[in-house]
Amino acid sequence: SEGPIFQRVALIGLGLIAGSMSLAMREGGLAARVVGYARSAETRDTAREIGLVDEVVDSAAEAVAGADLVVLAVPVGAMGAVAAEIAPHLAPGAILTDVGSVKQSVIDAVGPHVPEGVHFIPGHPLAGTEHSGPRSGFATLFRNRWWLLTPLPDSDPEAVEKLSALVRAMGANVDRMEAPHHDLVLAVTSHVPHLIAYTMVGVADHLRRVTESEVVRYSAAGFRDFTRIAASDPTMWRDVFLHNKDATLDILGRFAEELFVLQRAIRMGDGEHLHKYFTGTRAIRRGII
Ligand code: NAD
Repeated sequence: SEGPIFQRVALIGLGLIAGSMSLAMREGGLAARVVGYARSAETRDTAREIGLVDEVVDSAAEAVAGADLVVLAVPVGAMGAVAAEIAPHLAPGAILTDVGSVKQSVIDAVGPHVPEGVHFIPGHPLAGTEHSGPRSGFATLFRNRWWLLTPLPDSDPEAVEKLSALVRAMGANVDRMEAPHHDLVLAVTSHVPHLIAYTMVGVADHLRRVTESEVVRYSAAGFRDFTRIAASDPTMWRDVFLHNKDATLDILGRFAEELFVLQRAIRMGDGEHLHKYFTGTRAIRRGII
């Protein structure tokens, strides 16, 4: 309505998140031009073929040249190398953000490469699916979702506000958090649940050797619902666990303790304990939409 918020947005990485950002920005007229780069030629070809961005370029340097917003949308483990590659080509006054699922390690990896006069504002959209790649994005992915920003103490408030305006215009709600707190919260709400879903599929795979394809054929609601996220991208999730090590190990330790208590209650036939536990967790779960 009031014209584009950014003149030239550079997306580095052209997967689910970058693709969805491009579609949302173009649908809303939020960027005058969206330029994209991905490392693999196959991804770039696909992005060109489906018109995911206004222009696909063949180097990260070319993508960021003259951009007033640069978005790093690559796996967490690749952020530092990409930042080093683009740093000499960033325009003065540009905003540099990322969408990585872990925040402190990205700050540590990217921060040292950010040139004077460029505003680095780390972020994380709490929106995703189990799909990945340039064909997986859609314009409404961020609608009614949270988008957490973890600005640094010296982040320019005006730049933070400008990025927040873009995020809101894509339909998301902005909140701010300290990076270490973000990483602990996300370990509980996302990272450890993914790990447990992966292990549940692993257990089913053991059983499959005994029962042939029954786990797949009779996959009941519990298994199906619970393990949907285990189809997620292995590179992305490997990087999440390597880079949010302390928080995931902390939460995983607590999870193991809870599991042992329930295991003991089952062994002892302690129905009272199980009922009380499930009543408490149901109340908590019902409080989450
Ligand atoms: P994706 O696998 O769909 O896309 C990743 C893209 O990065 C691909 O285009 C790939 O070609 C490109 N890439 C990989 N390494 C690169 C490199 N070194 N240089 C340039 N491009 C490179 O992944 P995604 O789901 O869009 O995730 C991107 C980021 O967003 C990750 O950091 C992830 O943690 C985060 N994130 C993901 C979700 C989710 O649910 N998928 C949600 C929120 C945040």
